[in-house]
Amino acid sequence: MTQTAAIIGGGVIGAGWAARFLLNGWNVRVFDPEPGAEERVGAIIDRARLALPGLGDVALPPEGELTFCKLMSETVAGAAWIQESVPERLELKQTIYQKLQEHAEESAILASSTSGFTPSELQAHSNNPGQILVAHPFNPVYLVPLVEVVHSGKNHPDMIDNAQEILSSLGMYPLRVRSEIPAHIADRLLEAVWREALWLVRDDVATTKEIDEAIRMGFGLRWAQMGLFETYRIAGGPGGMAQFMAQFGPALKWPWTKLMDVPELTDELIHKIAEQSDDQSGHLSLDDLQSARDRNLVGIMRSLMREGWGAGDMLNKADRAREAGRAMARQLADIADLSQPVLTMDRAVPLDWLDYNGHMTEGKYLHAFGNATDRIMEIIGCDPEYVAAGKSFFTVETHIRHIDEVKAGAPLQIRSRLLAGDGKRMRIWHEMTSGDRLLATGEHMLLHVDLETRRVCDAEPAVAAAMRQLAEAQAALPEPDGAGRAVGQPR
Ligand code: NAD
Repeated sequence: MTQTAAIIGGGVIGAGWAARFLLNGWNVRVFDPEPGAEERVGAIIDRARLALPGLGDVALPPEGELTFCKLMSETVAGAAWIQESVPERLELKQTIYQKLQEHAEESAILASSTSGFTPSELQAHSNNPGQILVAHPFNPVYLVPLVEVVHSGKNHPDMIDNAQEILSSLGMYPLRVRSEIPAHIADRLLEAVWREALWLVRDDVATTKEIDEAIRMGFGLRWAQMGLFETYRIAGGPGGMAQFMAQFGPALKWPWTKLMDVPELTDELIHKIAEQSDDQSGHLSLDDLQSARDRNLVGIMRSLMREGWGAGDMLNKADRAREAGRAMARQLADIADLSQPVLTMDRAVPLDWLDYNGHMTEGKYLHAFGNATDRIMEIIGCDPEYVAAGKSFFTVETHIRHIDEVKAGAPLQIRSRLLAGDGKRMRIWHEMTSGDRLLATGEHMLLHVDLETRRVCDAEPAVAAAMRQLAEAQAALPEPDGAGRAVGQPR
């Protein structure tokens, strides 16, 4: 049964949560009394629709239903998850929980997005404190995986486990914080950097732009993939972390930082920072900055997926969990009806597959067909083990017809058939669709090769037999329109 999430407060964070749940197949109800909230939430969900569906390599479930509610009571009735994202004021949050808990299911999880309050503070005036915990996300909530899960002694361990499981099922990375402290883990680290940055600007050591360059041209690139300790471990060389500590430890005694001191936020300092920030980025609109942020985040995370590192490792695992139980076959025995084209790709168009025309770029059609071909190879038994043992298929000819365009976030499916497969050669026909629109066809000739001699050879008997079985089962299908065509010539 489709589950329901209630989103209380539809600002930047609440809207991001709404998108995260909605695009992962939950029904979502939003409560925010401010005029214009519906449009603002809608705009963020539209942005998420471009970026999130194509982040992983496996399609998300069909989108849930989105409703805006006038009353808190109707928002939370029957909801399994309630996410509070109202402004950071303790009394406001506590008052809202009292109202929410009057109408919420006993079993519902009531999570707060608070950046700073501890669960004990939030639970203080509640009759059912064990229902409330912190699920602290990062902006944009629909793309950044981290969510800090913070609990008090009043939360039952099963409830915390359940919360973590739900967050994982949304493609997030729940990090359980061991003990509750104000501002949890990540914002504490960020505040240390922020404090230093304020000093550097105040003392005219650096401008806002120079500080950003110091981060994004250098350690920011390392942090995104290895964090702090793993990066420093490398810096320690073969001696690892112990060597690093011995080498750089003494520097901690030198007065490199301002430690706990905070510069006074005078009007002068605020003005200086705002002016420098305008000089740095004032030529870009908020929309420009948000679009660039989303494209870059998708590009970075997809490249980490290729390496199976950090957030990429987590996204690969989320893909595998989503694929389990789907119609995508990995072997011949998984295919219910061999006589029909086989589903070899089921995903959405990633943001980093677009070109300057705003649609999926030419090279990515071949990329997608290449992945579908890999899936056919796996299905007939030419899997990574077979390749490691020394044999594989090489593509020797490809013909792609581009029939219709497709944009970021749109569903993309490929169905494939063997037009021929005789043990040595394989002729594959792929049809790429988005919904009921045919986008492209790909025809590919592959030869079976010995990876040592790099020459054509017969496939191992099991692979040859599977190839023949699939080609014969599909032989009764009509010849596809466009098969065997060369590039069109004027008559
Ligand atoms: P925001 O000001 O953008 O949004 C708050 C929303 O709550 C507004 O749309 C407002 O209309 C609505 N609201 C106010 N009173 C309400 C009420 N009584 N009932 C329902 N809605 C109400 O703030 P935000 O940045 O989205 O932050 C929300 C929470 O998320 C805060 O606790 C904040 O600490 C936390 N948080 C923020 C960030 C961030 O980067 N902005 C990151 C992580 C967590």
